[in-house]
Amino acid sequence: MPVFGGIEAGGTKFVCAAGTGPDDILSEARYRTTLPEETLANAVAFFQELPQDQTPAAIGIGSFGPVDPDPSSPTFGHITTTPKPGWANTDVAGAFRQALGLPIGFDTDVNAAALGELRWGAAQGLDTFIYLTIGTGIGGGGLANGRLLHGLIHPEMGHIRVPRHPEDDYAGFCPFHGDCLEGLAAGPAIEGRWGSPGEMLPPDHPAWQMEAYYLASGLVNLILALSPQRIVLGGGVMSQEYLFPMIRSQVQTLLGGYLQSPAISERIDQYIVPAALGGDAGVLGAIALAERRWREMGAG
Ligand code: ZN
Repeated sequence: MPVFGGIEAGGTKFVCAAGTGPDDILSEARYRTTLPEETLANAVAFFQELPQDQTPAAIGIGSFGPVDPDPSSPTFGHITTTPKPGWANTDVAGAFRQALGLPIGFDTDVNAAALGELRWGAAQGLDTFIYLTIGTGIGGGGLANGRLLHGLIHPEMGHIRVPRHPEDDYAGFCPFHGDCLEGLAAGPAIEGRWGSPGEMLPPDHPAWQMEAYYLASGLVNLILALSPQRIVLGGGVMSQEYLFPMIRSQVQTLLGGYLQSPAISERIDQYIVPAALGGDAGVLGAIALAERRWREMGAG
């Protein structure tokens, strides 16, 4: 098995690694996300300075977005319309392809994380599942019939609409939609609504029942639209582990017995599950993207 390179290209930090999997990360470095020129140069230098025996066979990039993940598009591998200063229309994949001359796998950060969960984590053996991260924003990716979810662009599961909780008068913080799922249920919404960040609120605070209601409403829409075999949840908000049973129970209530599957009626604790790769999910997912790209090229 050759070594692969992974880049978790995040809005606050870039994590670069070389390795073959969770138990075999040979080198790793983190760089603050400043302007593109400096950040990409730091990441390129990381790979150029690796010891000879860690030279990757391919590089995977899981990027914040929106991005263009369509290999046939002239702007493939670009971050497109981000409001992050300096980053709109940045050719991220091209910077590495030109400097390193290696095959590049490129996708959204959440599709990369989903691929990592498929390869080593909570989605092993599945062909249709969703990975959702709930943190400062909400993003979702996954696979359908074994293929990473793309289409017109790529899914933006955080921005779906959910019915308002009857006791909620918080306006929502999404600059595009106000009270979409992200606007109502990402970390900043908890703090905006209750005046205190989530990690300061005790488990019996009403914030969590409302949070579980919103997340369950979003999951029900995704379950009904995509029929995933499992839903994997990660991100800072989900480190409040007591949310899991609350969300599972709300999902069952909202589905109202309509879906006839023991996965939902009997084994929902194995259906809505925590991400298994934890803090390394992003960069491991990027390594999985690199491996997948390498195999697609017929090299494996
Ligand atoms: Zn939105």
